[in-house]
Amino acid sequence: SRRLPNDEAFLLFFARFIGIRSIRRNRRSARGVGSQTLPNLCQHLAGVAGELGVRCFGLEFAKRAGTSPGVGMVHAPFALLPMPIQEGFWKQACELAPIFNELVDRVSLDGKFLQDSLSRTKKVDAFTSRLLDIHSKMLEINKKEVIRLGLHRSDYMLDAETALLYQIELNTISSSFAGLGCLVSNLHRHLLNQHGKDLGLNPKRVPGNTAVRQFAEALAKAWKEYDNKRAVVMFVVQPEERNMYDQHWLSFLLKEIYPRGQIVAVVYFRAGYSPNDYPSESEWNARLMMEQSTAIKCPSISYHLVGTKKIQQELAKPLVLERFLEDEDAAKLRKCFAGLWSLDDSEIVKTAIERPELFVLKPQREGGGNNIYGDDVKEMLLKLQHEKNQEQAAYILMQRIFPTASLSYLIREGICHQNNAISELGIYGAYLRNNDKVIMNDHCGYLMRTKDSSSNEGGVATGFAVLDSIPIV
Ligand code: ADP
Ligand code: MG
Ligand code: MG
Repeated sequence: SRRLPNDEAFLLFFARFIGIRSIRRNRRSARGVGSQTLPNLCQHLAGVAGELGVRCFGLEFAKRAGTSPGVGMVHAPFALLPMPIQEGFWKQACELAPIFNELVDRVSLDGKFLQDSLSRTKKVDAFTSRLLDIHSKMLEINKKEVIRLGLHRSDYMLDAETALLYQIELNTISSSFAGLGCLVSNLHRHLLNQHGKDLGLNPKRVPGNTAVRQFAEALAKAWKEYDNKRAVVMFVVQPEERNMYDQHWLSFLLKEIYPRGQIVAVVYFRAGYSPNDYPSESEWNARLMMEQSTAIKCPSISYHLVGTKKIQQELAKPLVLERFLEDEDAAKLRKCFAGLWSLDDSEIVKTAIERPELFVLKPQREGGGNNIYGDDVKEMLLKLQHEKNQEQAAYILMQRIFPTASLSYLIREGICHQNNAISELGIYGAYLRNNDKVIMNDHCGYLMRTKDSSSNEGGVATGFAVLDSIPIV
């Protein structure tokens, strides 16, 4: 296991990458904290954090980047101070990760369950239908994935009224921000080391975030299982990816172990989860080709399908989890399931039309910005009822979770904004299996995302949320 390169090393690597020759040192952080009132302290911290942020987590090249090296860089948005979470919830979420990993693996092996559960969605959702076509082809040729690698992230919100931790969703493809999330944990610990006393926050309570190292380790171990020294790990990424530095951190850690070669041992998808990633038939052909190959897919088509919202809802039905897990594990998972319904349930549709603010309507999409909230839920449900086609099978209904809001300082493009904010905790999980041998099944690190409490959607890359971390209290 390789040590995480420090900020400075990454900065130099990064500077060379984008063509900067000299780097101005951050002088502001050396200055004392002057007045100790909280807003002043926060303003000071925001300056330090903003500079550290610009240095450490570049998110994209803005338009000018090509002409003036370095000036076009924008940092990923992040919270100035970490958001406390109670130890019990933290432990619960960590404990669930390996169980979810195992669940994904077992469900992925039940091709019939996946095809049946998604059969009606297939008729009305062209994207899911294409994914299922690839899956069917693999079933037809009886393709077996002997080595299976999952890099997942299960996301949770803490419901204020019931004080229960509820799963929002489980991501099985392109689980992002393992790279940048770790940097935010480091940034927060750094800030609390200097100013924690004034803020009443103990830096030691911010858990070390091992997500990116463990993800790199899982990819490396999968590569090793493939057992071909000349093979490579291939990252499949989106053109003009804004979130490229999150991926760079991962490849940075992996870099020295994969030599150049012709054979692909592991295909790691950071694209392919959205219809936009398939502008023509050639992308679909490429996806099919990769699925047919002997390479380890992260995720395989089955793992990808297990992560759909529809399967999340099917698994929440009575006695379905128990088909895949021992009762004790099933009970642990069920405890974090919020209300999830298919739109066939006319009672719940009626309730959702009357009280749409209590629900979220979700299509089979990933990456943020796709869900329907509030009065739009009512409108859409009425429209679907009126049309009387099968369109409703494209959606699921979910109970809306309302976390407690608290004052936060969110930094976007170097500017600190005060917001009443709510948070979503993601726990990463890595799973690697070769036939009967489970090589890795761990929870690994976390991602806290915080957003303005008035915003419905989440998502850092989509501009709703900022990266955050946690002190455990
Ligand atoms: P995606 O796969 O696009 O990330 P999610 O199911 O995670 O889809 O929904 C996106 C965002 O919408 C979440 O990050 C969260 O902020 C919000 N959200 C989703 N489901 C709920 C819910 N049941 N209650 C409250 N907010 C939700
Ligand atoms: Mg999500
Ligand atoms: Mg998702």
